Amino acid sequence: MSENIHHAGSADANRANNATLAARDLRHVWHPCTQMHDHEALPPIPVRRGAGVWLEDYDGNRYLDAVSSWWTNLFGHANARISAAVAAQAGTLEHVMLAGFTHEPAIRLAEQLTALAPAGLTRCFYADSGSAAIEVALKMSFHYWLNRGQAGKRRFLALSNGYHGETLGALSVGDVPLYRETYQPLLLPVITVPSPDCYLRAAGESWAEHARRSFADMEAALERHAGELAAVIVEPLVQCAGGMRMYDPLYLRLLRDACDRHGVHLIADEIAVGFGRTGTMFACEQADITPDFLCLSKGLTGGYLPLSVVLTGEDVYGAFYAEYAQQRAFLHSHSYTGNPLACAAALATLDIFATEPVLERNRALAAHMAACAAPLAAHPHVAEVRQCGMILAIETVRDRATRAPYPWQERRGLRAYRHALARGVLLRPLGGVIYCMPPYVITPQEIELMLGVAGECVDMACAP
Ligand SMILES: *Cc1c(COP(=O)(O)O)cnc(C)c1O
Repeated sequence: MSENIHHAGSADANRANNATLAARDLRHVWHPCTQMHDHEALPPIPVRRGAGVWLEDYDGNRYLDAVSSWWTNLFGHANARISAAVAAQAGTLEHVMLAGFTHEPAIRLAEQLTALAPAGLTRCFYADSGSAAIEVALKMSFHYWLNRGQAGKRRFLALSNGYHGETLGALSVGDVPLYRETYQPLLLPVITVPSPDCYLRAAGESWAEHARRSFADMEAALERHAGELAAVIVEPLVQCAGGMRMYDPLYLRLLRDACDRHGVHLIADEIAVGFGRTGTMFACEQADITPDFLCLSKGLTGGYLPLSVVLTGEDVYGAFYAEYAQQRAFLHSHSYTGNPLACAAALATLDIFATEPVLERNRALAAHMAACAAPLAAHPHVAEVRQCGMILAIETVRDRATRAPYPWQERRGLRAYRHALARGVLLRPLGGVIYCMPPYVITPQEIELMLGVAGECVDMACAP
């Protein structure tokens, strides 16, 4: 940079670099999901801009966003179509409360989501984050049974190793100790059933056989608790925060049938897996089921703005529909419920799905990911390479024979994270699981870079 520019610049932008911004950040910003002390060794990276799968920092380094910025981004950063839609909406109507008022983006989005979702999901209740959508689904299910005169149905059943968000209700139905354990005294008592997680299947057992065998636990729990249960909640096909653990669609089919037989709602949390991540638009499609509640967020706005929605059907809607004096209404709200800017981003995202062969293109990209990752399966510290659509995970272990993981205190994932950053790829391992869930605009060459670096990260994470 020339002296001239340096001194002429009145704007901070001319002086801004990674170090100065990180220092300013650390004076006031408290980061999510972070031990802030870690930033003494590894300061946060200030991102100046994004384009496609790439993020660029203030020192000019570029990072391939292999985790879609916490699984939100579908069609790249600064996507021209979505940006234009948000800008146009911002110049027209930025926000209006959704009680007593409505707006075209919320109406059109509800029309399009109900048309796209599994048959029977005809009603959309908007919220503003994934966790908020889970709270809505839990409250709505409980309240449905109350309105139907079954006040005793007030408990929830969840899978081990599940994740549904961080607010207290959502955390209650989650089972990842890292997030949950500290707050245990504050949480609802939930019934937990072992996950059909295929990583835990017996040698020689197929994913479907394992699903069928695991289902015995679910069937027994439903039989025992149906009278006090409002709903079962699951992440269809992939338990993402729990380490990208996957299971066969057969489990969902058995679960739908059992929930019907026992009179219990089924809540499908597709906040992470919706919008094509598993290969189909919604993961539930692979089991050909309709849940009673479908929770969506993350990719809903293409990764642009916070928005979530709970879809449900006429039976649930009808249980709340009555003269005001009957006091059956669902009086839940968030200030930014159904925000027009977020709805505009979601509409632009759905428009890309409608006008481009996204899922078909993804099949080819997913096959390329599989091919690039295949050699890693033979690594002496890799217990499993698994994939579901555009989600690919590599499970590293200390001992391949016993599958004993490395002690968490060694923080080997952090080594991998740092190595990947140095190589220009943003990977953020979940414990011993190094995974890729890239935006759908990734190219085959970028997939080769991403998985090449993921392979180096396996070596880094597993070095003595
Ligand atoms: C991320 C996530 C949530 C929570 O969404 P937030 O927007 O972070 O509150 C809930 N369920 C699943 C499956 C998720 O991956």
